[in-house]
Amino acid sequence: MQNDTSPHTNGHRDAQSNSYLSPNTDERLAAPPLYQGEADPNRTVVVCGAGGFIGGHLVADLLRQGYDTVRAVDIKTPDKWFQKFPQADNRSLDLREKDNCYRALEDADHVYNLAADMGGMGFIENNKALCMLSVTINTHLLMAARDMDVDRYFYASSACVYNQEKQDTPDVEPLAEEDAYPALPEDGYGWEKLFSERMCRHFREDFGVNTRVARYHNVYGPFGTYDGGREKAPAALTRKVIEAELSGDHEIVIWGNGEQTRSFQYIDDCVKGTQMITHSDIEYPINLGTSELVTINELVDTVADIAGITLDREYDLTKPQGVDGRNSDNTKIQEELGWEPSIPLRDGIEVTYEWIKAQMLEHREQEERSVFTLP
Ligand code: NAD
Repeated sequence: MQNDTSPHTNGHRDAQSNSYLSPNTDERLAAPPLYQGEADPNRTVVVCGAGGFIGGHLVADLLRQGYDTVRAVDIKTPDKWFQKFPQADNRSLDLREKDNCYRALEDADHVYNLAADMGGMGFIENNKALCMLSVTINTHLLMAARDMDVDRYFYASSACVYNQEKQDTPDVEPLAEEDAYPALPEDGYGWEKLFSERMCRHFREDFGVNTRVARYHNVYGPFGTYDGGREKAPAALTRKVIEAELSGDHEIVIWGNGEQTRSFQYIDDCVKGTQMITHSDIEYPINLGTSELVTINELVDTVADIAGITLDREYDLTKPQGVDGRNSDNTKIQEELGWEPSIPLRDGIEVTYEWIKAQMLEHREQEERSVFTLP
């Protein structure tokens, strides 16, 4: 069992009083690491999908721990990454290609596979084949990990692997690890995740690759997608509330009837839990999420309260809305690690709201400046 020795007693950092979110990368990296377990700075760590939301935060935390070589890999060119650290070995590679996976994992000791073509419900329901093609990323990375004697291989799975019949009411029983079978996952994205986590198991059993798998429940926080079509519910709703606040038109459209339930995990818990699971002896796919269940309406209430506005809500029942209810059963992670994600939704949303609002105001200013400078 690992004990939580995090400096953030509550597992929570106060964004106002420290440098975690500073635009200055040196300042961000000077903050204490979220993961407080033993680190071996001589190891080479590879983060796949480092240009994305969770991958970028993970790179930051590995650098905070003093790793000499953190290789950050993404299909996007680094100028498009959500977070980029010059202290890392930043590479742009398409990891669907086998040769690129061998290149990415050269001399690697630990590998985190967070690379996937994904997004919120609006994206995964309309791009099932694209989501399933991420299977090539994990397949080729596992083959490279096997052939190059990687010590630890982490795969980011999802709560979308769970049998959908166990999620057909808002008053849902929290999902325990065994509820993934008999298999009836989210079509497309969930099937790919279930297959890939199963492949991790068999590469461990048959080839000795030391794989670890976490089933992430919704993750949110700063430096994530909040517009453009791939954003997930917390970021999308936070953006909509801020749009209402800034425009003065206090009306928002919610996908579904607003009574769907979910649990939402703040990014710090995810980054810390990911590393705890990777360094642990847990060989089966384990939940990584909070058990604080809220309806989508309650999530909107929280954001509106932070913004200090009252909203008129319209419900669009034609839009993708996912399962009726989903929560994480944290019995196993508590037993294994003596820890579970616990940053309260309100605390995490406050930080996320501030970050998204700052981004939106900056874009608005940029647009105004470019209009002003037109000939
Ligand atoms: P993200 O979309 O922000 O990051 C994924 C990154 O993978 C992107 O930067 C993307 O460019 C990169 N990528 C896609 N195809 C690639 C390829 N062929 N080669 C190299 N890189 C490629 O997503 P995220 O929220 O950071 O999620 C990270 C992982 O966690 C994903 O596997 C996702 O399925 C899983 N997950 C996330 C959540 C969540 O709530 N965010 C929930 C469950 C599971």
